[in-house]
Amino acid sequence: MDHFLYRDGALYAEDVPVSEIAAAVGTPFYVYSTATLQRHFKLFDDALDWADHLVCFAMKSLSNQAVLKVLADAGAGMDVVSGGEYARAKAAGVPGDKIVFSGVGKTADEMRQALKGGIRQFNVESEPEMAVLDRVAQDLGMVAPITVRVNPDVDAKTHAKIATGRSEDKFGIPISRAREVYAHAAKLKGLKVIGIDVHIGSQLTDLAPFEQAYGKVAELTEQLRADGHEISRLDLGGGLGIPYARSNAAPPLPSDYGALIERTLGHLDCEIEIEPGRLISGNAGLMVSKVIYVKEGEDRKFLIIDAAMNDLIRPAMYEAWHDIVPVVEATPGDAPATYDIVGPVCESGDTFTKGRAMAKVGSDDLIAFRSAGAYGAVMSSEYNSRPLIPEVLVNGDQFAVIRARPTYEEMIARDTVPEWL
Ligand SMILES: *Cc1c(COP(=O)(O)O)cnc(C)c1O
Repeated sequence: MDHFLYRDGALYAEDVPVSEIAAAVGTPFYVYSTATLQRHFKLFDDALDWADHLVCFAMKSLSNQAVLKVLADAGAGMDVVSGGEYARAKAAGVPGDKIVFSGVGKTADEMRQALKGGIRQFNVESEPEMAVLDRVAQDLGMVAPITVRVNPDVDAKTHAKIATGRSEDKFGIPISRAREVYAHAAKLKGLKVIGIDVHIGSQLTDLAPFEQAYGKVAELTEQLRADGHEISRLDLGGGLGIPYARSNAAPPLPSDYGALIERTLGHLDCEIEIEPGRLISGNAGLMVSKVIYVKEGEDRKFLIIDAAMNDLIRPAMYEAWHDIVPVVEATPGDAPATYDIVGPVCESGDTFTKGRAMAKVGSDDLIAFRSAGAYGAVMSSEYNSRPLIPEVLVNGDQFAVIRARPTYEEMIARDTVPEWL
């Protein structure tokens, strides 16, 4: 559920007409709903009510400072995967003890930054990383709290580019080697083992892979405890999917997910951490674009719009589906049209969808891509020298630009021409 609904035929973001935002900021742009962000965070928070827990927002899905502030104010921790994200989390006022650091390639500099600034835990993904973190922590006279990310070898049954829990994926250490790796970690004076971490993939629409993975984590917890390790925290990753196509069956609810965690892991009396990204931010955002031309091909009709793959790369990168709707609702009874919807970038990959049946639209009409809050703005670029598109946050009847569109001058001024030229 989100807060982008039609009222009298016009699409609204909470209580603001989307067309009003378009008139104020120009197209294309992203718009996010505060109420939706808050609601989705609360669904997860409530789903883990039964345990000592922390919901850490996977901020790689949407990392605008205003969005982080909304979630931090609601009580969220943050899951960061780079020094830049760590700095953003701190700048949004998130205390270090609510920030977890994930990722396969943490550098010594990033480790130092997080240890000095405060960190809840590092989710360590390999033995070489463990060795570097141990040295960095000891050099600072500190002890780094860690979990080890285990790869449970389950197939998340999602797109190959976002599956992370199979033995062929680059993430974590094989669960079969976990006891050996924990025994090694326990000997390192710069590290303190506090738990286990697992994250099997993204956009999971079925709970079965989670159930499989968490069953293995439960077994491992008992084994590691028997080996003498203190396992008091389980970080279960993110990955719960969202309904990109409204016509599809709805994916599992956070409450079902919370109940599954209780059923598989509740008896271990651990603190529970989860790292949802997409399910908090995905349906909290739209990308709004304007039709430039309707081009009649020989046997296809193209909608050429002013947004492109550099603004929203998910369709090009993951063959992702987004529901695309007109900002002015079709009149009931109007015949739908079928379009290939494409951007102006000089690549055939700059195609959002092919053969899509939707309401008939014409030049200058606004259309909205639903479920564009996650992995949208954060993955955008200025390819073809198309300035980064603005981000807008709505809250009730107010809206604010939370990242402005750079002018051409600002975009150009980021480059430096050496004086010898
Ligand atoms: C990407 C990622 C997440 C978030 O995944 P979603 O599918 O957006 O919920 C959480 N944890 C880790 C380690 C990740 O890499």
